[in-house]
Amino acid sequence: MTSYKELGLVNTREMFKKAVDGGYAIPAFNFNTLEQMQAIIQAAVETKSPVIMQVSKGARNYANGTILRYMAQGAVEYAKELGCPNPQIVLHLDHGDTFELCKDCIDNGFSSVMIDGSSLPYEENIALTKKVVEYAHKYDVTVEAELGVLAGVEDEVASEVSHYTKPEEVIDFSTRSGCDSLAISIGTSHGAYKFTPEQCTRDPKTGKLVPPPLAFDILHEIEKKLPGFPIVLHGSSSVPQDEVDTINKYGGKLPDAVGIPEEQLREASKSAVCKINIDSDSRLAMTAAIRKHFVENPGHFDPRQYLKPARENMKKMYIHKIVDVLGSNDKL
Ligand SMILES: [Zn+2]
Repeated sequence: MTSYKELGLVNTREMFKKAVDGGYAIPAFNFNTLEQMQAIIQAAVETKSPVIMQVSKGARNYANGTILRYMAQGAVEYAKELGCPNPQIVLHLDHGDTFELCKDCIDNGFSSVMIDGSSLPYEENIALTKKVVEYAHKYDVTVEAELGVLAGVEDEVASEVSHYTKPEEVIDFSTRSGCDSLAISIGTSHGAYKFTPEQCTRDPKTGKLVPPPLAFDILHEIEKKLPGFPIVLHGSSSVPQDEVDTINKYGGKLPDAVGIPEEQLREASKSAVCKINIDSDSRLAMTAAIRKHFVENPGHFDPRQYLKPARENMKKMYIHKIVDVLGSNDKL
């Protein structure tokens, strides 16, 4: 058993309380490479922001769970080395799908886990979440649950259609499961293709897709039912069109990739939404920089030559999200 406290990590409890009270949201960035980790920590330190580094089951399979745990420990020490004496860093399991996976993470240094029982019948979702909560709270690890189903594809998580969270269920669910935060479905979606062209309108000037708005009425109803309770938004990349254009210009093929407009995420950050998950934007920033670098420098073959601009581009994106969208800067 390795407690996250030994690694210098924190759970989400205090962090979320401050974020809800302060009207901002904590960035939850997925990572599975060294360069992503470095960019996340550099951005968080430079902006004095708390940060959640999250790992999906797919990332654990790709990078190895043990390595990722030591990377998170390294991230804490790296933040201190960069001049942040008390970094607020959470290591979070994204979309845990079984009790066993959540337990394994809790036993190995994670400070927060998500148990995603959203595809199960309601009562089974409560029972599974409760089981994880009972184990996690013994070790002061916080638990995120999910109610409602997001559309889109993210690693092993995939659903064709979304089912909005039913506000009438949230009090019963959070009380009986004991979860510390709740991921809800109000129209965000996983992946870089969040909406089909049929679900969108088209901007007549640019020809770009304009996605349907988020269901703020549902969010506000949930906030009324659970005042001050931490709410989480998954699938909240914005799919920056300049990155998509760069990828397409330098040999990529991402037609009609579309995300959640940043104005809507900015608005959500001011509400009880206190954690916003961003994964695809990091993938796009990395890929855009690498594609451009390869076309402009066909003779380069040292990975550092193309991973350096990729890391810089991700860092720029992370800083933009923290400062211009979520408002979590200057909170340390
Ligand atoms: Zn998700």
